[in-house]
Amino acid sequence: MGQQWGWPLVDVFFDKHISGGGVAQICGLILVTLLILIYSIIYTVTFLTWGKRSSPGLWGWKGVCSKRRVTTTTKKCRVLLAIAHPDDEVMFFGPTILNLLRDGHSVYILCFSYGDSEGQGLTRKSELWKSCRVLGVPDENVTIIKHDHLKDGMTNRWPILPLSAHIRSFLNSYGIDTLITFDRSGVSGHLNHISVHNAAQDLVERNLLPNDCEVYSLKSVGFFRQYALNLFNIPLSYFFNQFVHVARGSDYKTIVKAMKSHSSQMLWYRHLHILFSMYLVVNIFQKISRPITLASHSK
Ligand SMILES: [Zn+2]
Repeated sequence: MGQQWGWPLVDVFFDKHISGGGVAQICGLILVTLLILIYSIIYTVTFLTWGKRSSPGLWGWKGVCSKRRVTTTTKKCRVLLAIAHPDDEVMFFGPTILNLLRDGHSVYILCFSYGDSEGQGLTRKSELWKSCRVLGVPDENVTIIKHDHLKDGMTNRWPILPLSAHIRSFLNSYGIDTLITFDRSGVSGHLNHISVHNAAQDLVERNLLPNDCEVYSLKSVGFFRQYALNLFNIPLSYFFNQFVHVARGSDYKTIVKAMKSHSSQMLWYRHLHILFSMYLVVNIFQKISRPITLASHSK
């Protein structure tokens, strides 16, 4: 037995590593601590400086060095965000909405249910408008749909055709050139989210989009990265992805305020989501590419 410190866990640790001559393990621990510290500094600097830069492209600061810079730095886009429930707009897409609005793009929100699985549909409907006002989306740009085939519920897979018909009609009516929605994992694996993605994917695959319309899906990340690795998410997102939106420091306050507009949903785990979720700070997108047809291939 080595030195006794009076705390069982500490004593066991010292017996195992120090008394046993585990210098390498101690050095490893110090190294990991230093790495965490360095990443914390990178995170803070990134958040406070990159987030404050002007962001002329559709994809924020990152867009400056992306291929889309050429076409979007001066162009003002009309962006449709297709979601499944009131609160999706801020739980998952807050940084994107705020960056787009700040850069002068128009943001429209199409919500496919009242989120009434617990009988709070009307309350949640009004909360969507409250949240959008906090985020800066005009009332007239927000549309919510109530449809017999689109019942809110974790186990309800929605039929694709009514969804894709609504989205297509909206794209054409409002002259939308950018559609944003969930990816095939639906962020949380919620079947309603996945259904909205499938409808967007269906429009792409059947070539039913307006000619100049591009589609992007919000990249889902695992639970560990979403919550436990949040410290690393800004550096990781910028280094390894092309389409990224990062919230500024002041954006985070706006996003939290918008989250609290959904007061009927503010259960204990929502507070944890506010504190730890990556989606309140970083959004990563992937482009859903149109299929290559013989006609376009031969151009
Ligand atoms: Zn949802």
